Amino acid sequence: MRYSIWSILRQGLKGNQDWPQAWRDPEPKPSYDAIIIGGGGHGLATAYYLASEHGMTNIAVLEKGWIGGGNVGRNTTIIRSNYLLPGNEAFYELSLKLWEGLEQSVNYNAMVSQRGIINLFHSDAQRDAAVRRGNSMILHGADADILNEDDLRRICPFLNFDNARFPIKGGLMQKRGGSVRHDAVAWGYARAADRLGVDIIQNCEVTGFVMNGGTCVGVDTNRGRILSKKTGVAVAGSTGKVMASAGMRLPIESHVLQAFVSEGLKPLIPGVITYGAGHFYISQSDKGGLVFGGDIDGYNSYAQRGNLPVVEDVAEGGMAIMPMIGRARLLRSWGGIMDMSMDGSPFIDKTHIDGLYFNGGWCYGGFKATPASGLCYAHLLATDAPHPVATELRLDRFKRGHLIDEKGQGSQPNLH
Ligand SMILES: Cc1cc2nc3c(=O)[nH]c(=O)nc-3n(C[C@H](O)[C@H](O)[C@H](O)COP(=O)(O)OP(=O)(O)OC[C@H]3O[C@@H](n4cnc5c(N)ncnc54)[C@H](O)[C@@H]3O)c2cc1C
Repeated sequence: MRYSIWSILRQGLKGNQDWPQAWRDPEPKPSYDAIIIGGGGHGLATAYYLASEHGMTNIAVLEKGWIGGGNVGRNTTIIRSNYLLPGNEAFYELSLKLWEGLEQSVNYNAMVSQRGIINLFHSDAQRDAAVRRGNSMILHGADADILNEDDLRRICPFLNFDNARFPIKGGLMQKRGGSVRHDAVAWGYARAADRLGVDIIQNCEVTGFVMNGGTCVGVDTNRGRILSKKTGVAVAGSTGKVMASAGMRLPIESHVLQAFVSEGLKPLIPGVITYGAGHFYISQSDKGGLVFGGDIDGYNSYAQRGNLPVVEDVAEGGMAIMPMIGRARLLRSWGGIMDMSMDGSPFIDKTHIDGLYFNGGWCYGGFKATPASGLCYAHLLATDAPHPVATELRLDRFKRGHLIDEKGQGSQPNLH
């Protein structure tokens, strides 16, 4: 059933008894043309674009838990394309364009809200860096504006402009940035893929790869062996574990990242604001909760929960830019496992094993990448060639010395 004003009215008149299931719950078939491991945003988007762009419908998404239980349903929902480097900017700008048409493509309300993102700067040097980044964005067809202090005081009067240590001098704004309801993205892609014939198989954990003469021909799961001509991995924080069973050690570490939500408050924050002198970002959900986060916990872990030292660090960041946050009560917090790469940029590539493809290294910025990642990964799986905007997202870039290091921090995943 297509969702529309008419279907809502019809179902309303019938007491909402006839809504069909959003997606089927099929048994796994013995074999597929392609399988995607991981039913997060990236895996589901890949399946959707494989079916919609490449006509591949004999495919399955294998998810060890439930759709939306991973990072796609745990993130702080920020979308943007405010990158500096060529290998990244074109890719993230394509993603932002896809977000702009997503709800119509998948016929699902994902609450895409382009209310703008502002990266604050606190010194002349930071202003120069922001201008440079803004110019790079504009050269790639994205939008960027530099706000001075007066502009900012008008938009965000609650900020602590005169902070003695880090006075706020202005910000780099991307008006088309904003937020999207994260779990609706998983549900929207899942439902749209299912309607095109994709099998979405939940509670199906991949435990190993089936090899035949050096080629990957399928996977072993807790629900039996499933053969496939092409196998795409998109397991985000579980990358290290899953790829180890294919004998691969990747330049990726798993780290915990926490998020926080306050009690509901009246509309206060116009869009997304990020702190330029520490690591803190904040927005306000449609329900009124302040949604915020900061740094990763800083040690390797597969636990989906965080620890107190970073709670304190995030609270300090919040107090530094908007002291009134100290009066809001915290409602909940949680953690997700991030696949932190050594240069902070992702991978969408074939592996050295025929039939096995890899998508990962999204760090804590992979939600905004979901549509472009799905489109580019589907392109790679279907055609065996990289999508034009993802040609730099290769696994051998460390061997070649062509890192995509946005922050210039070097090979330290906890700093990206
Ligand atoms: C607190 C937090 C805040 C964040 N904020 C933002 C943000 O504001 N903006 C942004 O762009 N990004 C953000 N991110 C990052 C973003 O959420 C991730 O980069 C992105 O969601 C990862 O891709 P995914 O959706 O495919 O991952 P996931 O949803 O984690 O999907 C991977 C799936 O693989 C499954 N899986 C693992 N192992 C197996 C197996 N063996 N067999 C089968 N399935 C398996 C998992 O169960 C999981 O469902 C944030 C992340 C967190 C945790």
